[in-house]
Amino acid sequence: MSLPPHIVRSHDEREPKPATPASPHLEAGLYVVATPIGNLRDITLRALDVLGGVDLLLAEDTRVTQKLLDAYGLKPRRASYHDHNGDTMRPLVLDALARGEAVALVSDAGTPLISDPGFKLVRAAAAAGHRIFPIPGASAALAALSIAGLPTDRFLFAGFPPAKVGQRAAFFADLNSVDATLVFYETGPRLVASLTAMHIAFGDREAVIARELTKMFEEVRRGPLADLAAAGISPKGEIVVLIGPPMPRDAPSEAQLDQVLTALLETHGVKDAAAIAAAQLAIPRKDAYARALHLKAIAP
Ligand code: SAM
Repeated sequence: MSLPPHIVRSHDEREPKPATPASPHLEAGLYVVATPIGNLRDITLRALDVLGGVDLLLAEDTRVTQKLLDAYGLKPRRASYHDHNGDTMRPLVLDALARGEAVALVSDAGTPLISDPGFKLVRAAAAAGHRIFPIPGASAALAALSIAGLPTDRFLFAGFPPAKVGQRAAFFADLNSVDATLVFYETGPRLVASLTAMHIAFGDREAVIARELTKMFEEVRRGPLADLAAAGISPKGEIVVLIGPPMPRDAPSEAQLDQVLTALLETHGVKDAAAIAAAQLAIPRKDAYARALHLKAIAP
């Protein structure tokens, strides 16, 4: 119903309508877009659609992102968003989202938020009830893991180790008992010191160094940590270091298993005793269960 021109609706009665509609192809919201980690062709078709269609593109460094935009002839409205201007930019970005704009976030390379800016923005956008769309693609951690040849069923991404010697040693020592492949980002100049500290903390585990992935001087070295620490790998470029999980312990003898289970069966049922023994001795739960049943059956 149209109102007479002299009557103005109060703000609350108005339809919640975006002042600036998002691109006709894109829903309003924050698009977190992965970009290549080296080879400019490692970008998805959807990422190109989004970068070309958003109302505003937030880039960690607009000069770096410009190369990608130029390569694909894209000209979105741009602004920078990084650790040093995030506090100032966030309210402006939230206003843009509230107006119904489609906003994309990219970092210099790979997936934003993965050792890159964006965490506070995504949190704030989520808290304000805006839609947030992942536009997945390259990430150095996953690219390295996919070719390392180390176990991938469980991995822990630990980002950049601290630069200070003491903090770095404590950081690695904390991770020593984690039963998973460890994935670190490292810079060239710190590589040798980091590998030496890793060797002290983790012993001679299997390791992989993945350098300059998808670029002209891509290099992947695999070997025991001691060898890699001494190998004189070029400390140039961008690097992912992967450390294999702790070596499997020797399987316990039947006598050891019986001893643990017998003690546990005094205070636990068969199922619980088997679960605890399996975890303690790092053996399959079904083996511990079968043995626990047997011990229970022959107990006096
Ligand atoms: N967000 C990015 C991602 O998803 O991979 C990572 C950003 S972080 C600031 C940069 C670090 O990622 C580099 O120091 C290096 O450890 C790793 N990295 C990035 N590109 C790489 C590449 N092409 N090869 C190996 N490591 C790379």
